[in-house]
Amino acid sequence: MRVPLLKPRPIRLSHYADDLAAHEASGVFSNFGPINTAFESRLLSDVFGGDGACLTACNATIALLLAVKEAVHFGGRRGRYALVPSFTFAATAHAAAWCGLTPILYDIEPETWLPSREAEQRLMERHGEDIAVILPYATYGNCLDLNWYAALAARTGVGVVIDAAASLGTRDAAGHGFGHGAPMSVVYSMHATKTFATSEGAVIYCADKQRIARLRQMANFGFDGARAAQMPGLNAKLAELPALQALRKLDEIDRVVERRAELYALYRARLQDFTFQRHTGTRAAHQFVPTLMPEEAGIPRATFVQRMKERGVDLGTYFSPHLAEQPYFKDIAVVDELPVTAAIAPRVVALPLYDTMEEAELRYVCEAAADCLR
Ligand SMILES: *Cc1c(COP(=O)(O)O)cnc(C)c1O
Repeated sequence: MRVPLLKPRPIRLSHYADDLAAHEASGVFSNFGPINTAFESRLLSDVFGGDGACLTACNATIALLLAVKEAVHFGGRRGRYALVPSFTFAATAHAAAWCGLTPILYDIEPETWLPSREAEQRLMERHGEDIAVILPYATYGNCLDLNWYAALAARTGVGVVIDAAASLGTRDAAGHGFGHGAPMSVVYSMHATKTFATSEGAVIYCADKQRIARLRQMANFGFDGARAAQMPGLNAKLAELPALQALRKLDEIDRVVERRAELYALYRARLQDFTFQRHTGTRAAHQFVPTLMPEEAGIPRATFVQRMKERGVDLGTYFSPHLAEQPYFKDIAVVDELPVTAAIAPRVVALPLYDTMEEAELRYVCEAAADCLR
């Protein structure tokens, strides 16, 4: 049997010939056309209870960059640092670096794998005004405590942008879409490999409609009505075609997330020797199944991954190497103490997960894992 790590499943545009014909007839291909507008408004009501506003973007990396720039430019912070967890995807730190900030890479918590609040507090005390922005990652679609960050921002004036790249479909402890009510920008990816799969795309949500209005202007070159730049800008717009993929994905996202949650629970029940993440919300939009190999596994992770590959099972190792181990970030970033990251990253393996995964495939993966560790 061959089991890939992921099987991206954006909706089949070829099944939506009428939508495509209407799109072509509209003569509008980008610039927040009717499909983008319909998607933003349905997403807002379906996922965020109609509170606040959201904005589409061409991908989450550019959306993070835009949101960091907005937080720093309009927040009036002159600091040169951005707090970024080391246990995240490269895009989080790249966004800070493109805004001219130096990432300070900090640790995570041992069970939720969310960014360490102890480290955030300590670094804020040490660097104060020199920290322009904090970029916490909602690790693997787990829920951050947004009140903590709102209070930190209110108390210190620091900018906050949430990297919620894997969280579209996640529900928080109150059962709302993760991000609901956030006073800061929350950035979600709709990349083909994410649970909310399109081709390329992203969403920024904020409870503050004015912030979204500013971001919308920034995403269109910072132009006002007279096409004169009023603020920092770039082109971050989502084209209408991927917006159609997003609009139709909304019809099935609950089914997709729930099917993935069932599969996740089966893995958890079968792999008693592996360590799973502690979840803080009521539903996570699992993109894959991150686990830690047993501490007493007796074989290096690379050997395990190789043996699984020989059995036809592809594993991932997100996020290892973590950022402080990657040459570019080693070069440009400041590295804080990382005891938890250093303990977790070498043991992390991502197990296969996709919408159409069969239970027989999952059983095969679990049996192969037991054999390969023997
Ligand atoms: C996928 C991902 C991104 C980037 O999303 P794109 O839409 O591919 O640019 C950023 N941060 C994290 C943590 C991600 O997993």
